Amino acid sequence: MAKTAILNGRVVLPDRVLEESGVLIEDGILTAVGTVTPDPDAAVVDAGGNLILPGFIEAHLHGGGSSDFMDGTKEDFETIARTHCLHGTTAMTATTLSAPYEEMKALFNLYRQAAAQSKTAQFLGVHLEGPYLSQELRGAQNPAYIRNPTKEEVDRLMRDAGDIILRCSCAPELEGADYLAAAMQEAGVVLSVGHSAATCAQILKAYDQGFRHITHMYCATPSIRKINQRVYGGVVEAAYLLDDMVIELIGDGRHIPPEVLRLALKLKGEDGVFLITDAMRAAGTDVEESYLGTSRPENRVIIEDGVAKLPDRSSYAGSIATSDAVFRNACDCGFPLPVVSKLMSLNPAIHLGVQARKGSLDVGKDADVVVLDANRQVSQVYVRGRAVK
Ligand SMILES: [Zn+2]
Repeated sequence: MAKTAILNGRVVLPDRVLEESGVLIEDGILTAVGTVTPDPDAAVVDAGGNLILPGFIEAHLHGGGSSDFMDGTKEDFETIARTHCLHGTTAMTATTLSAPYEEMKALFNLYRQAAAQSKTAQFLGVHLEGPYLSQELRGAQNPAYIRNPTKEEVDRLMRDAGDIILRCSCAPELEGADYLAAAMQEAGVVLSVGHSAATCAQILKAYDQGFRHITHMYCATPSIRKINQRVYGGVVEAAYLLDDMVIELIGDGRHIPPEVLRLALKLKGEDGVFLITDAMRAAGTDVEESYLGTSRPENRVIIEDGVAKLPDRSSYAGSIATSDAVFRNACDCGFPLPVVSKLMSLNPAIHLGVQARKGSLDVGKDADVVVLDANRQVSQVYVRGRAVK
């Protein structure tokens, strides 16, 4: 039986930090957390008094290491998983962009191969971000591929990929979205409001249909606004009104200023928010130019100040963050370590439905463990007990 004891660290739990503690891993599972009794059969790792955390769980990312999930090869999946795993992400969704159906279908097939074979971060499922989005709030998504969900396409989607789609970000106000939501609910898919121009009243209705998340709130989710001479609340107001509507925020320190992150935590509480990178392909690289989506000249973006921008600098064009940077940013906002860890691991695990096996350092859960160094850089990563870094 393969055993590893990681000792002499500060073990971060959802409600406290255990000083001078460790974890014991046996066959990929955590079998002791806190005080670990010496075991002559275990390989011993000294954490050097530094933080021992549950692996980061990434509910929303598109790429890294110069690859995007939409690039169309299994190697791209491996590159993205490895790149982010070396920065502490031990499980992730593969997030799509709006595309023709045949491209989506090709991605589903690649996903199945990559998920079965990944030797680094684990794939938890596919996250559809598009094509069922608001044209008005499409952000950087390609307008040519954004469309309303038809019964025919939804039925085909569920037949082809109902078993691997974990999460669907869509605009609930679209024609056909009722049918989409019902089909997704039936298949157990997590429904998330994203790239939506809905009013507050439309989000309250979406809540009744099973929507429980807001995808990257404050990015393509409007607040109070005037429509035909009347003022309406928007997605943001609905998110704060509904107690168990959970907010996802891009934690790269660029898209959301620290005061807004603090406001979200204040209004939603530490269980009501989780952080993502929403990273594009330049994450984990030091390139100065990249592409948002497919590598075509019209998709060229520049990388500066730790974020992707349109070449004329008129707008951000995606995050290049990795999860460890998101963790450090949240620490810099002044939240206690257990809270930051929840935002990065337990909360996304709960909202993706995998908390029984992931998201915290608890006996019996998968040994997805990250050890940081004194500068809070990632020094070691274990995925189900296997050392990746
Ligand atoms: Zn995204």
